[in-house]
Amino acid sequence: ALPGAAAALESPDTAPAGKPAAVIAREVARRRTFGIISHPDAGKTTLTEKLLLFSGAIQLAGTVKGRKSGRHATSDWMDIEKQRGISVASSVMQFEFREHVINLLDTPGHQDFSEDTYRVLTAVDSALMVIDAAKGVEEQTIKLLDVCRMRDTPIVTFMNKLDRETRDPLELLDEVESVLKIECAPVTWPIGMGKNFRGVYHLLKDEIMLFKAGEEKADGAFEIVKGIDNPKLAEMFPLEIEQLKMEVELVHGASHVFDLERFLSGVQTPVFFGSAINNFGVREILSALVDWAPAPRERDATVRAVEPTEPKFSGFVFKIQANMDPAHRDRIAFLRVCSGRFEKGMKVKHLRLGREVKLSSVVTFMASSREQVEEAYAGDIIGLPNHGNMQIGDSFSEGEMLTFTGIPYFAPDLFRTVRIRNPLKVKQLHKGLQQLGEEGAVQVFKPVLGSDLILGAVGVLQFEVVASRLLNEYGVDAVFESSSISSARWVSSDDKKALSDFENQLGHQVAYDAAGNLAFLATSGVNLRLTQERWPKLTFHATREHA
Ligand code: GDP
Repeated sequence: ALPGAAAALESPDTAPAGKPAAVIAREVARRRTFGIISHPDAGKTTLTEKLLLFSGAIQLAGTVKGRKSGRHATSDWMDIEKQRGISVASSVMQFEFREHVINLLDTPGHQDFSEDTYRVLTAVDSALMVIDAAKGVEEQTIKLLDVCRMRDTPIVTFMNKLDRETRDPLELLDEVESVLKIECAPVTWPIGMGKNFRGVYHLLKDEIMLFKAGEEKADGAFEIVKGIDNPKLAEMFPLEIEQLKMEVELVHGASHVFDLERFLSGVQTPVFFGSAINNFGVREILSALVDWAPAPRERDATVRAVEPTEPKFSGFVFKIQANMDPAHRDRIAFLRVCSGRFEKGMKVKHLRLGREVKLSSVVTFMASSREQVEEAYAGDIIGLPNHGNMQIGDSFSEGEMLTFTGIPYFAPDLFRTVRIRNPLKVKQLHKGLQQLGEEGAVQVFKPVLGSDLILGAVGVLQFEVVASRLLNEYGVDAVFESSSISSARWVSSDDKKALSDFENQLGHQVAYDAAGNLAFLATSGVNLRLTQERWPKLTFHATREHA
C-alpha cells in the first residue's frame, strides 16, 4: 500500500468514527414507528398517556388529556387546536423503551379529520388497534383498518376496558375476524371481567399477570404467577380459573397461533387484553412492538425502492400543521425519514421545486425533552418549520430524484362554493386557500370557467376550520355556500387531445386542484356516470396519490 494512504486513514479527519454504514444499520434496526387507530372513546388518549409514562415524559400526560373535549364542538376544537400549539410533541412522540427508539404518531380522533389520519398512516411501519371490549369493532376502526391494508401495515390489537363489563372475548375475536377480515392470534387472555377482572393469562409464556386497579407505576410491575395449573390460582379465584381453563382449551383449538410472518404481512394480528386506564397490559403491547413489529422497511420512491440503511438521506412530508405557535403564523411540515442519516444543518434537495434547502432549524419530538434535533434515521419524524412552499407528499433527498408514493387523497363528499364579502380581498382569499389546500386542510378546486372556488372536504368540520383560519390568518371574511357539486373525480388520460377537448367543453365542471391536477366536478351520480360514458378515453379516479 502507498504510505501516504495509510497515513491518511489514520488522520483524525478521515478515520472512520464508527463506520457510518454500521451506525445507520444499528439505528434503523432499533426504530419502531407506529400509530394508534381506534374509534373515538376506545381509549387512544389514555393509552398514549400510559405509553408516555414509560418514557418518563410524565409532564406531557396532561397535554394529551387536554385535547379530548375537542371532538365535541367546533369552538372547542379551535381552542384545543390553539392549545395544541403549546405542544409540538403531541403530534409525534419519540421515546425509548428497552434500547429501542419508538416513534408514536398521533392521529386525529374526529372522523371529520380522517383525511389527516389516512396520511399519517402512510408514515408508520405498524399500527396499534385499540378496541373498546364492551363495544367491539366500530365504524371508524373499520375505515382506518382499510387504510392500513392499502400498505399491508402490521397491526397489533389491544382489547381495552376489561375492568368493565365487556363482551365475550371469543365473540370479540370472531367479530374482528369477520368484520375486519384479519386473523386473530390471541397472545393474552382475560380472566373474568368488570368487578371480577383478575388479570390476563399469557398464552405463549404460560403465566398469569394479576390485575390490580389503579396501578400507575411506570414499570407496570404486576404480580406474575407461573403456570395455569398453579394451585395458588385455584385458591385465589376458583371460579374464574375454571372458566379460564375451559376458554384456553377452546382458544387453543379454535384460534390461530401467533405467526410472525403472517403478522408482518398484515394478515394476522396478535391480540392483547387489558385496561389502559389501569396501565394494565400496556407494557406487553410495547414489548410486542419492540419484539415483533418491523423496523423501517424499504419504500417505493417511483424510480426505485429505497432501503432505510442507504447512506444518503431521503424522506417525505406527510402532514403539515399550521399555527403550532399561536403567536406567529407558522407552519411545520412533518417529514418521515426514509433512509440515511439526517444531520442538523445539512443541505437537501426539495425535489418538486428542484431547489436546495438547508435544514438548520429542525425540531424533533423527544417526549422527555424538546431539543433541536441533531440527527435522525429512517423511521424518525422531523419537523421542518416554515420552509415555505411545502406540500403534503413532497420528497426531500440528498440529490437523487426520488418521489415517495402512497400519500392518498380521497375524492371529497362535501362541497361548498366560496364567496367573499370584500372583493378587494380576493388575492388574500386565493393565497389562503392555496396554502390551506397544500396543507391538506381542505381540497380546493378552481374551475376552468367562472371565478368561484369550490372547496371539497371529507368532514363538515373542515369547512369551519378553514373559515376560521381564513379570517384569523388571512383577514378574509369568506362565506361558504352550498354547491351544486355532489362528487369529484380526478381525471387522467394518455390522450392529450381528449383531455383538452374535455376541458374546453365542460369548463364549468372541470377544475384544477391545489396541486394542479385535473378534476371533474359532478352534479349527481347520473351526471358522473354519463360523463364517464361519453369520455371513454379518460380515466376517472376516486383517489389520487400525491405525485
Ligand atoms: P379516545 O377517544 O380513544 O382518545 O379515548 P380516551 O382515552 O379519551 O378514553 C375514553 C374514555 O374511556 C375516558 O373516559 C377514559 O377514562 C375511559 N377509559 C380509557 N381506558 C379505560 C379503561 O381501561 N377502563 C375504563 N373503565 N375506562 C377507560
